[in-house]
Amino acid sequence: MTTQNAIEIAGLTKSYGDQAVLTGVDLTVARGTVHALLGSNGAGKTTAVRILATLLRADGGSVVVDGHDVALDPAQVRASISLTGQFAAVDEVLTGRENLLLVGRLRRVEHPERVADELLARFDLVEASGRRAGTYSGGMRRRLDIAMSLVGNPSVLVLDEPTTGLDPQSRNEVWRTVRELAGSGTSVLLTTQYLEEAEQLADRIAILHDGRIIVEGTLAELKRLFPPATVEYVEKQPTLEEVFLAIVGDGIRPEASDTPDARESRTSPDAKTPEGASS
Ligand code: ADP
Repeated sequence: MTTQNAIEIAGLTKSYGDQAVLTGVDLTVARGTVHALLGSNGAGKTTAVRILATLLRADGGSVVVDGHDVALDPAQVRASISLTGQFAAVDEVLTGRENLLLVGRLRRVEHPERVADELLARFDLVEASGRRAGTYSGGMRRRLDIAMSLVGNPSVLVLDEPTTGLDPQSRNEVWRTVRELAGSGTSVLLTTQYLEEAEQLADRIAILHDGRIIVEGTLAELKRLFPPATVEYVEKQPTLEEVFLAIVGDGIRPEASDTPDARESRTSPDAKTPEGASS
């Protein structure tokens, strides 16, 4: 707690053999914010995250998590940070509650039962708490995984591609969870290859490309880097529904006195402007 920032990365470098993956990454994550690290597949996001979590050694530069240097004080860093990866740490044979209890005991938290029950309630998993996690949907499993990563109250949470491989409904569930986390004051670094995810969740966005952070800022700041949107007019083809409504009208049967000419004069404007016909 010696610094204002949750994460401070300066000049971080890492190569695998002669492949330079990180060539000088600088990034600061303020406390209580959600920061997205956006980059295409293979950009080096997971490499950076593994260094942050002390799972991988950097070649150069400095990385400080919650005031502790990863190279000098890895044990303190591990106590401050929690990493949730794409491959859930959930044990499928255990129930949701048992998974949380197991993590609580491993992390030696006081009152693991109470912690498990609080997290089950917070992540909307009370009803499913007695069911084996193997029966959970993708979104529930990822929510349980995030809940497990919060056992012991880490001040910094790293979510590595939290929605990769999830269907849209499960993705929305996870998004709700992350928003809730942000609201509760946890500092979150989120890696993603989905622009929409960064747009939806992050206070600030950093783009990792060619081994460095090439831009960083709020969404509004990033948008200002590009010219204003241009308005394009696209000729719209009518949908079958619009064609149908233009031909048959609005469902009111034509009167017996209607002549084909009268019908023609009524339907032809609609046929030219099908949007008008359907409204
Ligand atoms: P991202 O998470 O952005 O997809 P990664 O950090 O996983 O990127 O990978 C960045 C690059 O480093 C990729 O080209 C990947 O193939 C390579 N890489 C990752 N891990 C290793 C490893 N253990 N050994 C060799 N190359 C690796």
